[in-house]
Amino acid sequence: MKLLVTGGAGFIGSEFVRQAVDKGYEVAVVDKLTYAGDLERLKEVEDKITFYKADITNREFIEHIFKVEKPDVVVHWAAESHVDRSILDATPFIETNVKGTQVLLDIAKENNTKQFINIATDEVYGELGEEGQFYEDTPLVPNSPYSVSKASADMLGRAYYKTYGLPVITVRPSNNYGWWQYPEKLIPVVILKALNDEPIPVYGTGENVREWLFVSDCAEAVFEIMEKGKDGEIYNVGSGEERKNIEVVKAILSLLNKPEDLITFVKDRPGHDFRYSLNTDKIEREIGWKAKVTFEEGIEKTVKWYLENIDWVEKKLKYLKEYWNKVYS
Ligand code: NAD
Repeated sequence: MKLLVTGGAGFIGSEFVRQAVDKGYEVAVVDKLTYAGDLERLKEVEDKITFYKADITNREFIEHIFKVEKPDVVVHWAAESHVDRSILDATPFIETNVKGTQVLLDIAKENNTKQFINIATDEVYGELGEEGQFYEDTPLVPNSPYSVSKASADMLGRAYYKTYGLPVITVRPSNNYGWWQYPEKLIPVVILKALNDEPIPVYGTGENVREWLFVSDCAEAVFEIMEKGKDGEIYNVGSGEERKNIEVVKAILSLLNKPEDLITFVKDRPGHDFRYSLNTDKIEREIGWKAKVTFEEGIEKTVKWYLENIDWVEKKLKYLKEYWNKVYS
C-alpha cells in the first residue's frame, strides 16, 4: 500500500514516516522544508522513501505527484504549527493550513483516493477551565490564528466527506513531545536553556495545563486509525497525562540536575488557552488504542535524546535567538 505523507520532514510526520517504513508501507513524502522541516529526521529511511520538496499550495506540482505516485492513502501532517508564530503573522498559517489542505482535498477527490487522514489538533476545541473534557462532538471554538486555521482545515475535511463522499478521517491529537521536536516548543526550549544555564522563559505563572502525548504514541494511533477507523469519523488522540507547564519545566530541571531559580516568568502569551483535555473513550472503544508512554518515561527519553543529539539542536540556535528575542521580549 502506498502512502503519500505531507509534512513528513517535520517533528511528528517524520516519526510517522520512520514507523511506516518499518511496517513495510511504500512511502512518498511531500514537504516544503520550511524552517521547521529537516531531512536529517529522515536520514535512516532516506533510501526507502521517495521525497518531493514541494509546497502543498502548489496545485500543479501536487497534481503531478499524485499522477506519478498514485497513493492509496494521504496522511496530511503538513502545517505551520507554532501558535506564537501565528500571533506574529497569521498569513502563512492561512496559506498552508487552509489553502494547502483544500488543494490536497481537491486533488485527492479527483484521484478517487481511498482514504484521507486529516490531522487536526485538540486546540480546535478552544480552552477548558479546571474541569471537563473535549469530546469529538464538542463545538469548535478555536482562539489563536493557528487553531482557527487548523479548525478551518478540519472543517474542510468534513465538508469534502459530506459533500463529495471523499473518505476523510479526522484525527485530533493533544500536545506532542519527544525526539526531533524543533526547539521553539516548550520542552526543547527548556532543555536547551537549562543546559546553557540561561533563564527559562515560562508564560504567565506557568499554570496552563496541556495533555502530553509522546510522539511515537501519536504516530502509532494514526496507523491504528488508518486500519480500523471509519470514513467521516473524528478521533481524539490523547494520553490522559495532564501537566501544568510549571510541572513540566520542574521535571526537566530535576532530570538535568539544574536549579529551579533558572525559571523566569514572562508576560503571558496573548489569548493563552488555559487547559486542554481530550476524552479518548471513542478511540479506546472503537479502535482499541491507548497511549503507552507515561509522562515520566517520555520526558526522560526526550531529555536523553536531546543530550545525545545536541549538535542537531545547536545548528538551529543562531536563527532561534532572533526569534526568541521577538517572542519572549
Ligand atoms: P512541524 O512544524 O514540526 O512540521 C510541519 C512540517 O510541515 C515541516 O516539515 C514543514 O516543512 C512542512 N510544511 C509546512 N508548510 C508546508 C507547505 N506549505 N507545504 C509542504 N510542507 C509544509 O509540525 P508537527 O509538530 O510535526 O505537527 C505536525 C502536524 O500535527 C500539524 O498538522 C500540527 O498541526 C499537528 N499537531 C501537532 C501537535 C504538536 O504538539 N506538535 C499536536 C496536535 C496536532
